[in-house]
Amino acid sequence: MRTNIVAGNWKMNKIFEEADDLIANIADFVRNNELENTAVIICPPSLYIELATDLAQETELYVGAQNLSNYESGAYTGEISAAMLESMGVDYCIIGHSERRKYFKESHEVLAEKVNIALKYNVTPIFCCGELLPEREAAQHFDIVKTQLEQSVFHLKEGDFKNLVIAYEPVWAIGTGVTASPDQAQEMHKYIRGLINDKYGKETAESSSILYGGSCNANNAKELFANPDVDGGLIGGASLKADEFIKIIQSI
Ligand code: PEP
Repeated sequence: MRTNIVAGNWKMNKIFEEADDLIANIADFVRNNELENTAVIICPPSLYIELATDLAQETELYVGAQNLSNYESGAYTGEISAAMLESMGVDYCIIGHSERRKYFKESHEVLAEKVNIALKYNVTPIFCCGELLPEREAAQHFDIVKTQLEQSVFHLKEGDFKNLVIAYEPVWAIGTGVTASPDQAQEMHKYIRGLINDKYGKETAESSSILYGGSCNANNAKELFANPDVDGGLIGGASLKADEFIKIIQSI
């Protein structure tokens, strides 16, 4: 049985007191509720990772980073390495988010390096893929997602690929309030699982968690998560309020 996952991507939001409050509320919820076969992950800004791992101690709440360097260590001012994340108890890292592809020009090659270095240091990549609106309108969405996977993760050996989570995030749905319909999400998730099946075989395809991301909120999560190939969500804006994020967790 594959794991359901609800992961919150806070992006560049929250000052310290707000972060403290939000993490404490989510940690309390996770501490006091049995979440069968579901992993809850928060990905706050890196500055709050120690706060998050402290508050998450002795709970089943996992902490992820939003980014890591493709370099191992050294003179890379401002960067954070995979080894640092591992040493701080970080279990996951978002890689390939469309905002990093767009604003920081992260290429397929750099993303492949990030995936490799994360796995080397036991940090599970949450690898994001998804098409732009004109690409969907031109019916290129399947090809775009296939290329993103082929270029940045399908070089992995099966054993490494099993330590990776995929998030399908149509770029037109991110932060726009426009959500993919449950049918659109299921169609793409099934396609992705088929690609994994072709590359790594049935067992790996069936055990891979594929998350949906893009304007997922407390009102639409249940319908999205009800699809057989949607194993949870990567949540942006709706992860910034404890009560809404908790409702999303309860929708799984
Ligand atoms: C995201 O940025 O990963 C995301 C899914 O954002 P939102 O939920 O705000 O669309």
